Amino acid sequence: MPRWTRTATLAGLILAGVSVLDPLGSTRPPLSPPKPTSSPTAPREYTLLFLGDIMLSRGVGAKIKSESDWAYPFHEIASTLRTADLVYANLECPISDQGRDLHHLYSFRADPRAMAGLKEASVRVVSQANNHTYDWGPAALLDSLERLRAAGIRVTGAGQNDLEAHFPTIVDLDGVRLAFLAYVDVPPPEATAGVERPGVAWLEPARVLADIRFARPLADVLVVCPHWGVEYAPKPTREQVKLAHAMIDAGADLVVGSHPHVPEPLEAYHGRWIAYSLGNFVFDQHNSATHRGLMLKVTARARHVTAATLVPIAINRSLQATLAPPEPPKPARRVLAAQKIRATRAK
Ligand SMILES: [Zn+2]
Repeated sequence: MPRWTRTATLAGLILAGVSVLDPLGSTRPPLSPPKPTSSPTAPREYTLLFLGDIMLSRGVGAKIKSESDWAYPFHEIASTLRTADLVYANLECPISDQGRDLHHLYSFRADPRAMAGLKEASVRVVSQANNHTYDWGPAALLDSLERLRAAGIRVTGAGQNDLEAHFPTIVDLDGVRLAFLAYVDVPPPEATAGVERPGVAWLEPARVLADIRFARPLADVLVVCPHWGVEYAPKPTREQVKLAHAMIDAGADLVVGSHPHVPEPLEAYHGRWIAYSLGNFVFDQHNSATHRGLMLKVTARARHVTAATLVPIAINRSLQATLAPPEPPKPARRVLAAQKIRATRAK
């Protein structure tokens, strides 16, 4: 009997208007999920919510300050997030008042008081493996890690040294062990942690696969979070797809990506799930395509992921994350055809 059961809620994905299955558009047939089994003694189902990129500096920081409300970006969605057993996010900045601006093209550092926003959003695990946590150098990164720890928020993908950055972050959820690994392959490479140097875990495939094999026996559910891909691209590259598949083959249950600032497809692969990019969750970019993102909602029972669905979100004009209004229904083809005929006749 397979260790993993999968009951993909494909209907939910289709309703969400999200492309599923093969991100490169090949013609592999869709997976047919097995029927769910239920027993009166089954362990309780739990819900994990994965959020996209959260950046609390620059325009977002200015908005927070002008409102004098450090949790401001999250008020509209906090009650939804509170329904999950665990919320994860990619935190795309250090939260610190330490360090020195390294003057990257964009340099982010959030005011320590912005931690209140992550608490309001019920965030319990963040990845600091991204291309902005080192914008103010090692002092700000270390301070950020310490402040997150003090706030009760677990960090993955960064640490005081290479060992800590690569070590799985394990969270006990009522006896279920969830393990998180996170990586980045977006410059600057000097942000990479060393034997005695704080930094991030670099997305080096052989090392990642070795980490996954190490973490597998320590975890009931193993999540790998790569910060990767091409900004504003609607789908992943062939190399990303290959690496995501290798991560699953090595033992990951979920791959949850970030960085492109726009959503990319969700793929079912061998009964596991790959979300290539969830897009932004709280960010202040001008391009309107970056104002819509996704949450990945995963339900699981003990070691078994039972469903993965995408929940669309939108960033409003006040830079707050909100549940996205449903897409307007598309007119039926027949109506369109009738309109065309009328337009032709009117000429
Ligand atoms: Zn990024």
